[in-house]
Amino acid sequence: MIYADNAATTKMCPAAVDTMTRLLSEAWGNPSSLYGFGQKAKEVLEDAREKVAAVIGAGPREILFTSGGSEADNQAILSAAALGRQKGKMHIVSSAFEHHAVLHTLKKLEKEGFEVTLLDVHEDGLIRVPEVEEAIREDTCLVTIMYANNEIGTIQPIREIGAVCRKKNVLFHTDAVQAVGHISIDVDRDNIDMLSASGHKFHGPKGTGFLYARKGVLLTNLIEGGAQERGKRAGTENVPGIAAMAAALDEAVANMERNTAHQRAMRDRLIAGLRKIPHSALNGDETSRLPGNVNFCFEGIEGESLLLLLDDKGIAASSGSACTSGSLDPSHVLLAIGRVHDVAHGSLRLSIDEEITEEEVDYLISSITEVVEYLRSFSPIWRDLMAGKKEFIL
Ligand SMILES: *Cc1c(COP(=O)(O)O)cnc(C)c1O
Repeated sequence: MIYADNAATTKMCPAAVDTMTRLLSEAWGNPSSLYGFGQKAKEVLEDAREKVAAVIGAGPREILFTSGGSEADNQAILSAAALGRQKGKMHIVSSAFEHHAVLHTLKKLEKEGFEVTLLDVHEDGLIRVPEVEEAIREDTCLVTIMYANNEIGTIQPIREIGAVCRKKNVLFHTDAVQAVGHISIDVDRDNIDMLSASGHKFHGPKGTGFLYARKGVLLTNLIEGGAQERGKRAGTENVPGIAAMAAALDEAVANMERNTAHQRAMRDRLIAGLRKIPHSALNGDETSRLPGNVNFCFEGIEGESLLLLLDDKGIAASSGSACTSGSLDPSHVLLAIGRVHDVAHGSLRLSIDEEITEEEVDYLISSITEVVEYLRSFSPIWRDLMAGKKEFIL
């Protein structure tokens, strides 16, 4: 089996599994209780907070633990919107290829009277900084742009976007779920006011994540109740899960240089191999790209069929088309970078981790080449393309 769907979720690393299983029996107390059992759990929780904060250059009091990336995105955006509403600033700038946790939250705000400008993502999958600046208005309360895209892996010019927001005095949030633990992040260097992260995207447990909110940024609760997380997120904390997330992040950051060098080499080998398939194209910029992301379109085939046949060969990957989520529309990300429907339907995302070997990469290349050829052999679209009844796009 080759697991090449790490952008969807990752396997927990041994350090995270060990931490979690140990703490399930050692730190089961309620961190809000004053007696010993509670205080032990509290210590574990605050230790995790310090670790996580240090990784992104934040202070521990600026970290709020959440159930994952989606919750952090919702809370960041709704908090900025609440602050904006108070000041009569009801305009938000974002981009067309954000994760649905961001896009659907923005949709909800539109129904409540907010105006949203979704910036164009260019063919290379990158946002242009001057366009962010132009989009900001007197009544803009938030700019939210993802650090790295989850489908095509492109890394945005976050530092420069943050600098523009700072200059214009607008809050800047970034969904950094695909970036944290994979590339270097520093909230001061990158001019970030709020940042979302998720444990299960960097070999931590599912159901864990955090929101960074710069000191002075007032958060709105999504969950009301007890005074946990400085009163901003009620509910008894998932102490073992949170500690396991911190352990996974620590490990990811400690080994980042080695891991990403290997991943980049494997990624580039994969890209070079897949490029040999005729009428194919890499999606997203080749250099400003996550070390583990490869995303291709193959003309004349359906991504879904490709996935099923790859599964038979022991390969777990993902397709940009959203059929899996019950919709027949192709990926909004691929449409945003200008892929037409037919081409966007034939997409494949491979997200590799640091454990992948050269032999596995070569097996991926040969299997995908074979399956694409096979699918094209009976594809009516491919027949039309070959007969010249339709023009090749790629
Ligand atoms: C996975 C993902 C999310 C959602 O995170 P969860 O922890 O699964 O809620 C949000 N944004 C991006 C970019 C993601 O990749």
